[in-house]
Amino acid sequence: MADRMEFSSTSKRSNYGAANRVDVCVLCVYPSAVMHRVEDCIFCGIVAGSENCFKVYEDDLVVCFMDLFPLADGHTLVVTKEHFENVFEVSESALTGVAALSRRVATAIKKELNPDGLAVYQANGSAAGQTVFHYHMHLIPRREGEGFNFTSRVRGDAATLESHARKLRALL
Ligand code: 5GP
Ligand code: ZN
Repeated sequence: MADRMEFSSTSKRSNYGAANRVDVCVLCVYPSAVMHRVEDCIFCGIVAGSENCFKVYEDDLVVCFMDLFPLADGHTLVVTKEHFENVFEVSESALTGVAALSRRVATAIKKELNPDGLAVYQANGSAAGQTVFHYHMHLIPRREGEGFNFTSRVRGDAATLESHARKLRALL
């Protein structure tokens, strides 16, 4: 996998680089030709254990791991185990699981990284910036005066991601 978000050419599961691809999604009306099938879903691969992640927590409903292309140091994702595409599809029980775990992980991030703030973010549809079409919540530590850079995303350093995952795990 490459270091930048255009790594989709090396991973058929990834949705990144979709704008440059010619795939046609037969399941939806999104114009960006992003694949939405469960078998192409990177997060389903992580849930199944066929794809690696820096895992923080897992239970019957949800899994939490470090974002591989962090918007900020400590950027964490809370993901439903079942494949729901977005907020319009997610079950109430899975949504409740995501909300409850997000609060616990947010508290752990606060203890571990002591950020000035913490953004809780969740996108639905490509127009809203969603790039992985499997329901998930972003927990993003924020520093005063720091901007968001959604366009140029660099793969996080593995040792740093592992260290954050281990420390957050210990705080849950
Ligand atoms: P979205 O853009 O759909 O709101 O968020 C998807 C997030 O998943 C992005 O922040 C992106 O960095 C992250 N991501 C994409 N591929 C992978 C991956 O293979 N592993 C992990 N851990 N995160 C990923
Ligand atoms: Zn999925």
